[in-house]
Amino acid sequence: MNKKCPVCYGVDTHLKNKKMSLHLCRTCRHTFTVIDRKEEEKYEEDYYLKAHKNWFANPDYELFETVFDTSTQFLGDKKVKLADVGCGQGAFLKHLLQKYKSLEPELSGIDIIENSHPGIKFESGDFLEMEFEEGYNIITSFMVIEHVIDPHVFIKKMVESLAPAGVIVVNTINNGSLIYRVARFLNNLGFPTSHDRLYDHHHLQHYTNKSLKTLLEMEGVDVVKIKNHNYKLKAVDIPKGNSLIMGIYKLMVAAMFIISKPLNLGHHQTLYCKKRK
Ligand SMILES: [Zn+2]
Repeated sequence: MNKKCPVCYGVDTHLKNKKMSLHLCRTCRHTFTVIDRKEEEKYEEDYYLKAHKNWFANPDYELFETVFDTSTQFLGDKKVKLADVGCGQGAFLKHLLQKYKSLEPELSGIDIIENSHPGIKFESGDFLEMEFEEGYNIITSFMVIEHVIDPHVFIKKMVESLAPAGVIVVNTINNGSLIYRVARFLNNLGFPTSHDRLYDHHHLQHYTNKSLKTLLEMEGVDVVKIKNHNYKLKAVDIPKGNSLIMGIYKLMVAAMFIISKPLNLGHHQTLYCKKRK
């Protein structure tokens, strides 16, 4: 059955997939999985400790610093008041605090899980239902928006919580990346392993640069910078198997990271936006 694209509301093509209901938007090339709200995932400790063990054990400090430096440049000389939505265990905020002690009263982390760390204000609960007294001027979100059922509602709330001329940074996987293209190609040839791993049930929304930009601009911000990038190899979660297969897998990922860089087809994307006045 056809479903409307959750980004541009365009018409989709249903992709053949044995495991889930996967759709491709013909207008913005967004790929999405349709699930029942009842099936919505509750993220428990296992998600951090098992499914994405290497990812969470190796935070991307280089990305954290790039995001902070770039967003403060866009902010100009205003005093930073930053919230990280879906902060997980707070790796980004903890890194900022360690590097810039003066940020201490201005860092907030929001997540469904509970956290505590001296110098960071953590709020646990549903971001969509929270009220913020004064707007943040930088709101970041790392690897969250691929998990949400209705991305417009999520971005709308980010924009509402943002002070005028504030900066939003959204980081997610890149459906137009080399690694996704190769996985789709192999899937069409009858080798679905990497495809099924990338389009796994944790990720409901697979954005291209175009679909993510469309989403953000529809919600009243201007996209001022789009950056495609990779991350450290040790953060890659390798499927468990014999050591030869695991070695080949790692080598293939390494090769794709190297080739994708000059082609601007990195596995992840980070978009920087400014709120319209
Ligand atoms: Zn679309």
